[in-house]
Amino acid sequence: MREIAYNKGLGESWYGKLTTDGFPQTVLLELTYRCNLDCRHCYLTKDSREKEIGAADVKNIIRQIADLGCLHLIVTGGEPLMRPDIFEILYYARRAGLTTHLFTNGLLIDSDKVMALKNTGLTSLEVSFYSLDERRYDFLVRRKGAFRKLMNSIELLKKNDMEFVLKALILRTNFDEIADLKKFADGLDAKIRMGIMLAAKKDGSRSNLSLRLTPQETFEAINIIDALYIAEKSETDYTGHRDNTRFLNQAGQGEDKGHRDGYFFPCRAGRNKSLVIDPCGGLSPCLYLASPGISALTAGIKKGWKEIKRYTEALVRPESYKCNDCYLKSFCLSCPVLKQLESGDMSGCLPFYREIAELRKAEFERKNAAGRV
Ligand code: SF4
Ligand code: SF4
Repeated sequence: MREIAYNKGLGESWYGKLTTDGFPQTVLLELTYRCNLDCRHCYLTKDSREKEIGAADVKNIIRQIADLGCLHLIVTGGEPLMRPDIFEILYYARRAGLTTHLFTNGLLIDSDKVMALKNTGLTSLEVSFYSLDERRYDFLVRRKGAFRKLMNSIELLKKNDMEFVLKALILRTNFDEIADLKKFADGLDAKIRMGIMLAAKKDGSRSNLSLRLTPQETFEAINIIDALYIAEKSETDYTGHRDNTRFLNQAGQGEDKGHRDGYFFPCRAGRNKSLVIDPCGGLSPCLYLASPGISALTAGIKKGWKEIKRYTEALVRPESYKCNDCYLKSFCLSCPVLKQLESGDMSGCLPFYREIAELRKAEFERKNAAGRV
């Protein structure tokens, strides 16, 4: 195993510079599906909150991904701080040479945990943040008093000089708060990452989609966020994510990219891009896809990754794949997995995405005509 001294900027300087023989540079580890909240928009379902693997198996997996050349480990949940062994796992990952990135809802953070997280050598911390309005936040996460707890956690992080990024999913409940959320983050001297795409639940239920922005609101949110961030010249960061929606306002992404590059998944999931490990050790190319039955525990990571690649490479877009000849594909944000989750059909076309694509195309053409693209 490689060992490295703690260095906060390490991931940034490595990202994109090293090749890893086809193994993903970033692995996302869902450590648990348990959660102290019950968010109305959450894509997890009760059924998916099953038994999880213990620290020894998790460390074994981490050692294998580090040996295969992985650079960045994102640890998420559920709520990963529900696991008492989280600190030992994060520390182990750093000692194995990985940068570590923790996604949390923030409510379980207290002074001891801030120190414990610091001591693991954590590279970055992302805290979900949905509203500046107490009632709205508590409604969304279905917990009275949750907002106050979160604000306490944020205060603690600041007091202890612990850097963090706020992560805001823009929904119908906070659509009018985009600029205020950005201002709040600026006031804290923290970055904020905003997302606009809400996937249906992992079991195909659409019950959370009532919170999703309308197509018109999605289009407007893209433009508002884009305008807020143009001034900042957002860059790709060490986790490989781009900040917010800047890329959404360029043509040639989404379905078009998948089509052009000959990939089934536009984001290249299952190629050298991403690997997701669920709480039971199941491997998957995408967060929203249930594991195709490949287990890190029985197959091991090296063999399991090969099987994931074989699985995704075997997926071909059929003749009937609607996006193949669609005039909107350069502007469409859909993807086969989102379509599958929402309608049970990976090949079809959903009016929601079509409408957004129409709006984006019209905007692109308007700007083009004005010489502003
Ligand atoms: S905090 Fe995250 S995992 Fe927990 S209920 Fe909310 S969205 Fe789901
Ligand atoms: S509008 Fe429909 S058919 Fe066209 S690219 Fe999007 S999802 Fe595919």
